[in-house]
Amino acid sequence: MRLKAERINLWAKGKKQGPVRIELHPTNKCNARCKFCWQITNNSQDNSHELSDERLLSIIDEAYALGVKEWIISGGGEPLVRHEVTMKILNKIKKCRMWGQLTTNGTLFNKEDIENLVDIGWDQVQFSIDGPNPKIHDYLRGKKGIFEKATRNFKLLSEYKKQKKSSLPFLGVNTILNRLNYNKLDKMIELAHDIGSQLVYFEPLYPGYLSKERLELNEKEKKELPDHIKRAIKKAKELGISTNVDRFLDTNLIDKTHFSDIVMNYSPNSKNKFISAPCYQPWYLMGIKADGLSGCCSTFEDGEFVHNKSLKEIWFGRKFDNIRSNMLERKLPDYCRKCSVVVVVDNNEIRKRLMNVPQEVFTGFKEKLKKWIN
Ligand code: SF4
Ligand code: SF4
Repeated sequence: MRLKAERINLWAKGKKQGPVRIELHPTNKCNARCKFCWQITNNSQDNSHELSDERLLSIIDEAYALGVKEWIISGGGEPLVRHEVTMKILNKIKKCRMWGQLTTNGTLFNKEDIENLVDIGWDQVQFSIDGPNPKIHDYLRGKKGIFEKATRNFKLLSEYKKQKKSSLPFLGVNTILNRLNYNKLDKMIELAHDIGSQLVYFEPLYPGYLSKERLELNEKEKKELPDHIKRAIKKAKELGISTNVDRFLDTNLIDKTHFSDIVMNYSPNSKNKFISAPCYQPWYLMGIKADGLSGCCSTFEDGEFVHNKSLKEIWFGRKFDNIRSNMLERKLPDYCRKCSVVVVVDNNEIRKRLMNVPQEVFTGFKEKLKKWIN
């Protein structure tokens, strides 16, 4: 957060800065068929225009020159479907001494990959696991055997780390909170502990991608959720697992519908436009999708293609500048409705670090949010 706030402070003084973080999707292809995946409702998905291996690798050089420090390699699809180039990307990021996180369904690693992740000092791997047992996880992921493969690879990675006496990569589980796992959150923590995970990071569901089946919580389940969360918090303390599960004690935040309103209402009114900006990601994060479309945040749908333009041209170009100017005028792009509470919390952390922020800006802030969403 410190570096992000530092760069945003410089932007506010008129000194343009490069992105701190890039979120890169090597591919949209996937070996799973998750019931809540964005691809389920996107039948026109065309994977024939994915960025070439060469362009993906040259992006890392350009990013390094722009001052990028952090990478999230995720999807889109499953990064390891483009196995060879994804492993090259990870190696190159570490050679350039940047920080990296890989988000994966965990099923496509081979033994060499697992050893390589430890040997190069890759920083963090997040395995997407949505149920504490094969019945739930395989059902949600649309394929039998996914749970077994993911947990086996997780254990192999954890064991190889121990063998090499390495603290890296930091290992975590990402879990989408839904109606099939909301009453088994403590079991998710137990599973994480058993396979060697240090973190369980719960994410809200975006109901807009769901097909016919209901996976979001109904009112009765939402009422029950706080008790399940409290049990999970207790279990996490017992087993020494980090988790963000407490964020969902406010059950209004468990799905992503109409998030624009929450983003807007969580930002204060101020004469200082940088303090009242609803979101800071357009000043520090560049997202690059598998087809080369690049935007200035993690949930973007509008931007420019990196095929024929450099990252520098795009990041400092007119399109991104327009998005930033609109943000300063508190006009959000339409895609913000799909955003997540995680971003809201990060924005507030950054806002607190911006220079000369009067403390009264934060007085009664959480209460204001609660009042608004109830
Ligand atoms: S693993 Fe990810 S990309 Fe693949 S189907 Fe599931 S949600 Fe979609
Ligand atoms: S979708 Fe909107 S609120 Fe979310 S990160 Fe992007 S700009 Fe920020």
